[in-house]
Amino acid sequence: MTATPITPDVHTLHRVLGGRWADLRDDFTEQVRLLPFPATEDMSTAEQRAATLHLLEQVAATGAPRVGFDPAYGGGGDHGASVAIMEVLAQADLSLMVKSGVQWGLFGGAIAALGTDRHLRRYLEPMMKAELLGCFAMTETCHGSDVQRIRTTATYDPATDEFVVHTPDAAARKDYIGNAAEHGRLAVVFAQLVVKGESQGPHAVLVPIRDETGATMPGVTISDCGRKAGLNGVDNGRLVFDEVRVPRDALLNRYGDVDAEGEYTSPIASSNRRFFTMLGTLVKGRVSVAGCAAAATTKALTIAVRYGNTRRQFAPSGATEESILLDYPAYQRTLLPALARSYALHFAQEKLLVDMHTVLHAGDAGGDGVQDTVQRELESRAAGLKAVATWHASATVAACREACGGAGYLAANQISQLKEDLDVFTTFEGANTVLLQQAGKGLLTHYRQQIGDLDSFGMVSAVAEQLLSQVWERTAGVLIQRTRTLGNRESELAATRDYRWQLALFADRADRLLHTLASRIQAASKAGTDAAQIAAATQNHLLRAARAHVERVVLENFVTAIEGVTDPEVKRVLVSVCDLHALSEIERDAGWFLENGRLSGAQTKAIRDTVDQLCAELRPRAGMLVDAFGIPQEWITAPIVVP
Ligand SMILES: Cc1cc2nc3c(=O)[nH]c(=O)nc-3n(C[C@H](O)[C@H](O)[C@H](O)COP(=O)(O)OP(=O)(O)OC[C@H]3O[C@@H](n4cnc5c(N)ncnc54)[C@H](O)[C@@H]3O)c2cc1C
Repeated sequence: MTATPITPDVHTLHRVLGGRWADLRDDFTEQVRLLPFPATEDMSTAEQRAATLHLLEQVAATGAPRVGFDPAYGGGGDHGASVAIMEVLAQADLSLMVKSGVQWGLFGGAIAALGTDRHLRRYLEPMMKAELLGCFAMTETCHGSDVQRIRTTATYDPATDEFVVHTPDAAARKDYIGNAAEHGRLAVVFAQLVVKGESQGPHAVLVPIRDETGATMPGVTISDCGRKAGLNGVDNGRLVFDEVRVPRDALLNRYGDVDAEGEYTSPIASSNRRFFTMLGTLVKGRVSVAGCAAAATTKALTIAVRYGNTRRQFAPSGATEESILLDYPAYQRTLLPALARSYALHFAQEKLLVDMHTVLHAGDAGGDGVQDTVQRELESRAAGLKAVATWHASATVAACREACGGAGYLAANQISQLKEDLDVFTTFEGANTVLLQQAGKGLLTHYRQQIGDLDSFGMVSAVAEQLLSQVWERTAGVLIQRTRTLGNRESELAATRDYRWQLALFADRADRLLHTLASRIQAASKAGTDAAQIAAATQNHLLRAARAHVERVVLENFVTAIEGVTDPEVKRVLVSVCDLHALSEIERDAGWFLENGRLSGAQTKAIRDTVDQLCAELRPRAGMLVDAFGIPQEWITAPIVVP
């Protein structure tokens, strides 16, 4: 059976991918398209840092970085747009994107989210213009993932009405801090706030680290992290404070303040809750890292697919012409499921961005506790998606490098640089395993809230089990049964492409993993097992549950996005891309579906065959699918693909 060819318009697909901020993305791309992005392979660290700083200043000159800040202080008041422009920069140059992320996302973002009028009035304008470069100094050498336990202190001294910022020992120095080694003048320093001898937990304090001439401030010791595996346009450094004094108003005091009488006050009583509320306001950084990793991945895929579309190796017997790499099924398997997953993650990221935009705007408008659940869900989703998207980025860029053979290893062909630069995205803005764990804990809390109020867990367990079974029978179970009774191979293959069935499988896996996790925890807790032991015993289960939940959300978002597409050809190609994504994921985790009786061996085999079939079906569209990412030709300089 020959399928009717799908010929969607690339531009239409590009606009669909652009989503809510499509115009802004295109306009900003045009503004920065011709900036002098350097070929960094032969540059020294010093040269690359200088070039990146120069680019940052030119981006500042476009005015675009203003877009995410408060209009009352010269900003554009559009939170989602501020992430969208970072995603554009990620396609151009990752060092520039990260330095921009440090300046306008972390440094500027922390002042905007944690500061009050006195800070915004003074610092936002020079920060947006990149006249005042700054740092976000949270991580310490001994505490990176568990930042609540940082040991830097900011102790209030009533005698002088100042805070004394101090690094107690070498392991508590601030480490890996972007903009610290050379260019930053002011740092948002996270420190345990000590007032009247009592610690109020981590708070952020503004500490000048260099004066206007670039000289290091008294009491501050700065050292350079030196050459890194990638991102060498960013000057990461270490900061040590020796009883550095800053005025009381240097405290970013939105969530905790010290008044003129030296009294500490906060609208949030619990120091634990206060700290996580502060971190929650910085969610934009995490959303940005996920989106930027995804955007940079599209560049590696663009290069690899274009290479695979033209490169010839081996000739079939009797043929004079050699075959194109992308015509080999094994080659298609290397790139096309990854391309499909990039599409899937793209739509999940777009949905996250829209939701983040809504939540942050509600916060700007004075939203309070009513928003709490929504905010927590957003933070959990951002954490989970960041982990999944950056793991996908690392794996995909490695696959693209290999797919370009020896040429992929040459720096001039850009993929090796992308690989080095993207590697650390799985670590900064939160190490992935830690984030996925955080997402899993969020799910458990929600689960308990939904059914945990019932007194007897035995009852809860039975009720939940029954519900899961009923849902399964009504949806996926029925669909599977139908294909079994039809009993012919073609209908079995076709059934795997029913999105309702795919959604039901994803939902069932997520629900079951969460339910069995909750049951294990409850049983262990009833048996009197210590909480730390329970956490250790169930950690891997928790991570699997979180991952399954993220996969479910990604697929649901993809299906919803497709439903909103009006162009029939674009819709048809996206349906195939979505099928390829969903079935590749089921294939990856076939063990779980088999172990849990959700799929038979015959069905996993049918899925494998369908993935092959979809790769062949999408092969002629591969070039169009990467063209739709819309990366300007000036940014794809790899000689292997330059026409
Ligand atoms: C290039 C770069 C730029 C950075 N920029 C900044 C910046 O500007 N400002 C800033 O404040 N920080 C910055 N960081 C720091 C970054 O945020 C931290 O590196 C990150 O949070 C991880 O902390 P860590 O390095 O201490 O890793 P660790 O916490 O030591 O983690 C090591 C490994 O252990 C795993 N792990 C940790 N805890 C657990 C657990 N409970 N269970 C299972 N596994 C676990 C992690 O997943 C990770 O794989 C930067 C880092 C780099 C490399």
